[in-house]
Amino acid sequence: MIDQKRLLRRTTELAQIGGSGAAVSRLGLSADEQRARDLVGTWLSAKGAQVRRDAAANLFARFGGEGEAILVGSHLDSVPEGGRFDGALGVLCAVEALESLVDAEVRLRRPVEVVAWADEEGARFGVGLFGSAASFGRLAPGVADRRDRDGVSIAEALRALGERGDPAAARRDPAELAAYLELHIEQGPRLDGAGLPLGIVSDIVGIYHARVTIRGRADHAGATVMTARADALAAASEMVLAVERIARGRADSVGTVGEIAVRPGAKNVVPGEAVFSLDLRAARDHDGLVREVLDGVTSVASSRGVTATIDELARVPVTSLDPKIREVLKRATKSVGVEAPELVSGAGHDAQNPALSGVRTGMIFVRSTGGSHTPREFASVEDAALGAQALANAIRELAS
Ligand SMILES: [Zn+2]
Repeated sequence: MIDQKRLLRRTTELAQIGGSGAAVSRLGLSADEQRARDLVGTWLSAKGAQVRRDAAANLFARFGGEGEAILVGSHLDSVPEGGRFDGALGVLCAVEALESLVDAEVRLRRPVEVVAWADEEGARFGVGLFGSAASFGRLAPGVADRRDRDGVSIAEALRALGERGDPAAARRDPAELAAYLELHIEQGPRLDGAGLPLGIVSDIVGIYHARVTIRGRADHAGATVMTARADALAAASEMVLAVERIARGRADSVGTVGEIAVRPGAKNVVPGEAVFSLDLRAARDHDGLVREVLDGVTSVASSRGVTATIDELARVPVTSLDPKIREVLKRATKSVGVEAPELVSGAGHDAQNPALSGVRTGMIFVRSTGGSHTPREFASVEDAALGAQALANAIRELAS
């Protein structure tokens, strides 16, 4: 049985690491994230798990011996000024699910591992899904040299945590895994709107991240007539509106420009350069969305006489989760009395890395009021306990 009191107590205890009031700032590969891992490791080793950390600072706690394992977990880092549930709830519920199975002396034929992935958010180094990408051999080359704002590289951050600074060494063989399960708060309002505590993820959207640099010509804002300008910001503005128009015109697509910087940045100078971010996501035909937006950027640049340089930072395809595991999760949620709907995830998740590496993967969403990546995010302990019980039921079915 899931112990709601224990789950609530541990949720509160974990939130104190990097926490202040309702907010949690526990950045990936930081000392706080390490303390959170240590705490989770302590709980699991007390239950008889073999606990280890890999070269990318992921935590694994294994119950049982040889054979293909069921891997279950989520991440322990947060965004700056985030909440206590995004990521952490998936680890807490995995721990609780395993504890309940151990307490009930359930005989599992397969080994089960709880995982806490390092640096999922990428808030510090700009590399999202870091730990899971390392584990499944999907890190971009040279990623260990990426630096945070203070000039600390990923390799140096890993060394400060006692690792050797080579995250690629975390790679493990996906054939060691029979399945991967992840519970996560829903980062949108659909479950709350439907009055349902749990959902099952069908697909995770494709995600494209890029930095676009527009170069025009800086000129005197008084002396340069309007017809003689190559205004980088005016061009960028037209591109931002094109992103909005294109994404609106396509099904299941979103496009966001969340950052923009202007140089030289003075009120009496025509902007010579503008640099903006691109975040493009779609549940289907993601490539088509990316292509249409990039074509739009190029055509605005040529009509305005500026140049556009596009640096692709990340591109993850649409990930469909395993139909058989979805069936298992359907039964598991039904057995706790929930008719869980299937939902597309608009956010990226660690689950993409095992899924794209051929591991049968499934995800449960838990209702969150107040969204996510904010101190307002909230999952009730009753909903979390239902999720943990469903997770335990799914592990039981898959491992025995
Ligand atoms: Zn998350």
